[in-house]
Amino acid sequence: MAKEEMSGGLFLDSVNVLLHETADTLKLDEKYAGKSIIERIIIPDRIVSFRISLQRDDGSIDVLQAFRVQNNNARGPYKGGIRWHSSVDLEEVRALAALMTLKCAVVGLPLGGAKGGVVLPEGVTYSMPEQERLSRKYVDGLVGNLGAKKDIPAPDVNTNAQVMAWMSDQYGKYTGEAITASFTGKPINMGGSLGRAEATGVGVIMTLEQHALCHDINLGGKTMAVQGFGNVGSHAALRAYSDVGIKVTHVSNEYGCTVNSDKLNIVKLCKWVEENGQDALPNFPGGKPCDCDIVEADVDILCLAALENAVTEKNVGNIKAPLILEGANGPLTAEADRLANEAGKDIIPDILANSGGVTVSYFEMVQNENQDRWTRKDVLARLKLILCDAYDKIEEVAEEYGCTRRQACFLHAVSEVAEASSLRGTQ
Ligand code: GLU
Repeated sequence: MAKEEMSGGLFLDSVNVLLHETADTLKLDEKYAGKSIIERIIIPDRIVSFRISLQRDDGSIDVLQAFRVQNNNARGPYKGGIRWHSSVDLEEVRALAALMTLKCAVVGLPLGGAKGGVVLPEGVTYSMPEQERLSRKYVDGLVGNLGAKKDIPAPDVNTNAQVMAWMSDQYGKYTGEAITASFTGKPINMGGSLGRAEATGVGVIMTLEQHALCHDINLGGKTMAVQGFGNVGSHAALRAYSDVGIKVTHVSNEYGCTVNSDKLNIVKLCKWVEENGQDALPNFPGGKPCDCDIVEADVDILCLAALENAVTEKNVGNIKAPLILEGANGPLTAEADRLANEAGKDIIPDILANSGGVTVSYFEMVQNENQDRWTRKDVLARLKLILCDAYDKIEEVAEEYGCTRRQACFLHAVSEVAEASSLRGTQ
């Protein structure tokens, strides 16, 4: 990917353009005169930027840049994941934090938005002890800003339940608490919620199912390409394949693509990647390796579950799929989104489609606060109810304003945040 396409600046611009448009449509300046509501989402409440000196196993030190952006807490404590990646920059984390504020509002969770990131050196893989030290140092750098009533981190790209376990343990060294609702996405044995690991990917497909129900689409036998086979893409592909009868024909990750025009056996693909690593995905014995750009796949549904800016004005015209399902945050630039809509593509946008992860994070907080334990069945049933309600609400807003689903998500979420901000006064 070109440097410019990886830059968080483009992503932040896309989010801010939409926020300004939304403020105009909602006439926020008239409705909340003198209260500068939209600026309270565009300019984050707080940016914490700090250095982590990470001791490598060989004794050398990697000096890493770390961030936590607390975007807005008008509706509740800051909430959002922590990303470890070489492409992380402050603009990217700001954009992701703003999307978290909106995402929580779209699904009606009593939470605000935040995001964290650590810029990793390119091409370096940290050992488990190195990851543990990094997790603990991240908490050390932020500790006063964290807490179940302040800011609750969770996993995101390259972080997982193990990372949350180390972070939560480190946080407990300061507070004396053993299990806290101050982190979500924890392992089950440490107060994690059943269903959390798969919640984002499963939620993506639940949202698609609700879309199909509302628009009389039979998903059985439809073909799908999935870009990204991390936590979101793999669980989305698995549910599509195992529970919905969608034929997943193309799956790609940063190492390449595997294709089977009949259908890929996703259960076997998950096992293959688990046993052989992400770099083995293109060599999956049940598919053929392919050099193609997956966004061009000739399928019914394109599920984008990798990183932001995967689709720009340069490749949007090559998308053949009539339906774009956004598992990742910000996979289309603003320009690509405009062109895709012009070309008549149906889009289920990120802050609606991938809100299942933060929703089950919220369930995890509720269980922790009450020392409670819900079954996986119960978690997924509650998740489905929330996602279906959110989908229906967004359809209603899109209808009312005659706008796209993404615009409808922004309109609904910004009105909710605006209302709370206004009620709080000048903040
Ligand atoms: N990182 C996920 C997201 O982008 C989950 C955030 C959370 O659970 O707080 O939605």
